[in-house]
Amino acid sequence: MSTNDITIIGAGIIGLCSGLALQEEGYQVTLLDKAEPGQGASYGNAGIISPWSIVPQSLPGLWKKIPGWLLDPMGPVTVRPSYLPQMAYWGTRFLMNGRTNKVRQTASIMHTLVRDCIPSYQQLLAGTGAENLLQDAYYVQAYRHAKDANLNALDYHIRAEYGAELDYIDAQELHQLEPALSKDFKAAILIKGQARLTSPGRLGLVLANKFTQAGGLIKQSHVNAIQPTQGGWQYEAHGKLHKTSNLLLCAGAWSSDLLKTINIKVLMQNERGYHILFPNLDMQLNNSVMDADMKFVASQMEDGLRIAGTAEFDDKDAPLNEKRAKGLAQLSQRMFPDISQQQIQPWVGVRPSMPDSLPCIGSVKQHPGLYVAFGHSHYGMMMAPKTGQLISQHIAGKISSDSMHDFRLNRF
Ligand SMILES: Cc1cc2nc3c(=O)[nH]c(=O)nc-3n(C[C@H](O)[C@H](O)[C@H](O)COP(=O)(O)OP(=O)(O)OC[C@H]3O[C@@H](n4cnc5c(N)ncnc54)[C@H](O)[C@@H]3O)c2cc1C
Repeated sequence: MSTNDITIIGAGIIGLCSGLALQEEGYQVTLLDKAEPGQGASYGNAGIISPWSIVPQSLPGLWKKIPGWLLDPMGPVTVRPSYLPQMAYWGTRFLMNGRTNKVRQTASIMHTLVRDCIPSYQQLLAGTGAENLLQDAYYVQAYRHAKDANLNALDYHIRAEYGAELDYIDAQELHQLEPALSKDFKAAILIKGQARLTSPGRLGLVLANKFTQAGGLIKQSHVNAIQPTQGGWQYEAHGKLHKTSNLLLCAGAWSSDLLKTINIKVLMQNERGYHILFPNLDMQLNNSVMDADMKFVASQMEDGLRIAGTAEFDDKDAPLNEKRAKGLAQLSQRMFPDISQQQIQPWVGVRPSMPDSLPCIGSVKQHPGLYVAFGHSHYGMMMAPKTGQLISQHIAGKISSDSMHDFRLNRF
């Protein structure tokens, strides 16, 4: 082992961007994943890449909406009843993070992670031949009641304060912009200056290829446990122990299981999200479009129209909930009346979610050589390039733990 070797567990978008950034710092990097690179949550998301996604999930007054959402079988949030005790404490901390002052404080930290996401991806993709995976887009947040499209709402206010260009458009302008959208939508807020990925899964494969071409190693390995050893760390996979000088955990929602093997608990939840893919449609969307009432997003992908959303709290490895997937398909039809329900392809993945919507990035106290970068909740695609830069510079000794205080593992 040499001190510049590092093993990353998890080759999702966070592991990939961290691996590429560590290579730039001169590290010899091995990426381990139990599956193909970039095929976890990083595969099935809505592909939004926005410097203006700086508003956390918990907002003032949200608690009033939750009971109604939970009672609605098609509502944006669901919890399996027997799972409720496992999320009660997380839920309390989540709601406590929704106070106005805290939201503003969190927004300023989120801004540091997303503000350069578009140029960072352009740089990551330059020369790969896959530059067109990233396209300019607006975020169209569409409402059924015009009065709800309110630029004075806290979340829009915060975006505007950080420089986002926002516009209110009425029904006529909205249907000119996105003709396929149901006429039930009466107004929208446009968030300009964003981008979208046309295939998040292919992005993972492109970055994995770039990483191996630069000398990195990718191994298919299911890691069961980690532990410190003389001169570094070891991990157990397929019944064998492997040594590495440094270890970086980027295993998304599964990172907490690996930390449990060294008796570290993290207050992270499995926030499962769904998507439905409608392949072979005649219609085309020009932007990322959100049904702002039901909180899901439609995106035009290379292989069809993807409708992504839902927050389902349950075990991370639970099977796909067919009722949930069907509900999302029905909601999709309400949003786009001309789409057909034939041939739909449902998918479920797990967002690793912390109560404050911020990730954990940095060293692990009293465990030299062990680092973490996980917990990116709804924002992992857009936060990944900056996360990679931060963690690699921290590991290389260029950024102190003090300056990564906001992302510390033990903040809850
Ligand atoms: C429906 C939905 C929509 C979303 N929309 C957006 C969006 O528009 N924009 C955005 O920025 N974010 C979005 N997100 C969030 C984003 O997808 C996640 O934050 C991000 O993908 C997390 O990346 P990750 O690398 O941490 O996790 P993952 O992509 O899940 O990667 C973790 C990897 O670790 C591997 N792994 C786990 N355990 C082990 C083990 N024991 N041994 C070896 N390997 C292991 C897994 O196989 C996996 O490949 C969305 C998420 C969902 C579910």
